[in-house]
Amino acid sequence: MKIADKSTSAVSLVKAALDKAEKYQKTHHIFNWLNQDALRQAEEIDRKIKNGEPVGRLAGVPYAIKDNYLSRQGETTASAKILTGLSAPLDATCVEKLEAEGAILIGRTNLDAFAHGSSTENSFFGPTKNAKDLSRVAGGSSGGSAVAVALDIVQFATGSDTGGSIRQPASFNGVFGIKPTYGAISRYGVVAMASSTDVLGFFAQSAADLDLLMSITAGQDAKDQTSLPDFYGTKDEKLEKQKLGYVKEFMESPALDPEIKAALEGKLTLARSKGFETVELSLPTLEYALAVYYIIQPAEVASNLSRYDGIRYAFRSQKGKDIASVFSQTRSEGFMRENKRRIMIGNFVLSSGFYDAYFLKAAKARTLIIDEFAKAFSKVDAILTPVSPNPAFKLGEKVDDPVSMYLEDVMSVPVNLAGIPAVAFPAGETKSGLPLGLQLLGPRRSDKNLLGLVEDLC
Ligand code: GLN
Repeated sequence: MKIADKSTSAVSLVKAALDKAEKYQKTHHIFNWLNQDALRQAEEIDRKIKNGEPVGRLAGVPYAIKDNYLSRQGETTASAKILTGLSAPLDATCVEKLEAEGAILIGRTNLDAFAHGSSTENSFFGPTKNAKDLSRVAGGSSGGSAVAVALDIVQFATGSDTGGSIRQPASFNGVFGIKPTYGAISRYGVVAMASSTDVLGFFAQSAADLDLLMSITAGQDAKDQTSLPDFYGTKDEKLEKQKLGYVKEFMESPALDPEIKAALEGKLTLARSKGFETVELSLPTLEYALAVYYIIQPAEVASNLSRYDGIRYAFRSQKGKDIASVFSQTRSEGFMRENKRRIMIGNFVLSSGFYDAYFLKAAKARTLIIDEFAKAFSKVDAILTPVSPNPAFKLGEKVDDPVSMYLEDVMSVPVNLAGIPAVAFPAGETKSGLPLGLQLLGPRRSDKNLLGLVEDLC
């Protein structure tokens, strides 16, 4: 990140970012909105610098937000028709903190509508294309943010990760992405998906940049009751055991692409050469994580999406004749197919008669997953795994087959269910030039250690 680079001006950085954004928009479809006021804001920063006034740690740094972050700048759509036309009356706490440090918003990035998906193809505005291969998906749901960073349009971008939405697009496009400990960053002002697994995080071009962004944005917020007192940086404990685990069940999975497996083995060899002991772990309950996630997450989605009724938010169907039909018409026109699928599954697993069999059972299995990770972290400092079983797939390949799309998340969702942090990082390319990504998992509150460890492995 060129934050400390005095040789350049905010105006030249922002101008370059806007030029690139416009150029790549035509090929990759990254942004839902571009900030026409960005240059004026950059001039203001340059003026402050010239006058010797204090400026923040991100002064003049161009950045992008996933379009599910509320901000007074532009409309917040979450890439869903039902939110088109929404001018937010507030800034998300995370946005407030970044802009207080002088970061300049370039645009809002595309996502799967309401962050439901793993490819950005569920966007009302159409898909974003992979940074390296236009015939392939960007990953999702934060596809636009990942591609904006991979193409060096912005130095960093925000994302949200409910079941992998930062790590998977980071790995599909060859950038770094952090999914922090649950509660590390206030979620206030970001469109809710599944409240017990939603976390905010970032895409950047290095682990050091992610570290800076975490130190700026982590911390408790009275407006988010689940946010944790700031632990980031204050508890900078040294790694004690110098042990790196890997998961037997993932390594033996027939779904795992051989090139990803080889990249992971390469990193284990590197870790050993740096003095780490590598330890094979058996985590058999992870096999159930995907099923557990696709019960708990839709249940929370169904609740969180119930507020969009055509009355309180932007879009309202004109076909409604009375209150009930305004609700149903607005929801049926405003949500994407995938949103509706989740609302239906969520209401089903919560309904009396099925609650015990599905939701309650999933909640119990979730506890087993949490316990299994806790046991693993009594043996190792961190665990290295793939992010997803395969590199970026072709556009259109999975979009009509929801189960195969859900299978994309098999290695990312356990992290969210357990609330632990994970950092995705680039680990080379396939023979055909597609980025390969891996992720490092740690116990809760070990976010900073993980970033340090990732620097060691890169
Ligand atoms: N791909 C996962 C899903 O569709 C995760 C999405 C996310 O993290 N927002 O649920």
